[in-house]
Amino acid sequence: MDNHLTLTGMVLSAMPVGEYDKRISLLTREQGKISAFVRGARRPKSPLLAAANPMSFGTFFAYEGRDSYTIQKADITEHFENVRSDIDLILYATYFMEVADYYGREGMDETERLKLLYAGLRALGKGQVDMDLVRLVYDLKTLTINGEEPNVFECLSCGKKEDISFFSMYHRGTICRDCYTKEGGEELQQSVLYALQFVISTPVEKLFSFRLSDDAKDQLKDLLTRYQNRYVDHTFKSERFLTE
Ligand SMILES: [Zn+2]
Repeated sequence: MDNHLTLTGMVLSAMPVGEYDKRISLLTREQGKISAFVRGARRPKSPLLAAANPMSFGTFFAYEGRDSYTIQKADITEHFENVRSDIDLILYATYFMEVADYYGREGMDETERLKLLYAGLRALGKGQVDMDLVRLVYDLKTLTINGEEPNVFECLSCGKKEDISFFSMYHRGTICRDCYTKEGGEELQQSVLYALQFVISTPVEKLFSFRLSDDAKDQLKDLLTRYQNRYVDHTFKSERFLTE
């Protein structure tokens, strides 16, 4: 059996191990999220320095041992320099990577998650986009990849597809005007409903292209925060460093 693998992926986190090594968490297209050793990565002239840096994206040549992977060589094609050189952007990027690290699984198809992370970091690095909006899009698409997103394409009480401008936290999605009287809920701004539908149904590559008024963004943020508090039972360490 050949235990040598070629992996396309991104480093999510790195921890020092022993005197000179690092252990990294790597989100890959081929093996899902794996943990791997990078021997000598802490030596100043190591050719594997970049391979053990969070946010490094590229091709990793790994050896699969009995219960661990070892990176032998890496060809890093994207370093996200624009993100790395801005402290605010680093905070958002760190949060994105922590989220991907938490939900990513070994042996699962994590291609969409990897593409989302890549696109999210690219959007941050462009500089002229609203970081808060990028984060909302990232969070909502993560819910979608996890299969935990709200249903915003029909009334969850009667099944009707028109006039679904109300949101019910209890039903985890939209409600039509007729059902609103008995089901309750909150009225959504039209642009917030479109934003929810757009993010959930659009491929990751085209996701970060839209804009939202501050008013609509506030409603989306408030809604998503309450939705996550209710349906996602995890708090991320890096989240508290993000600007409110
Ligand atoms: Zn209805």
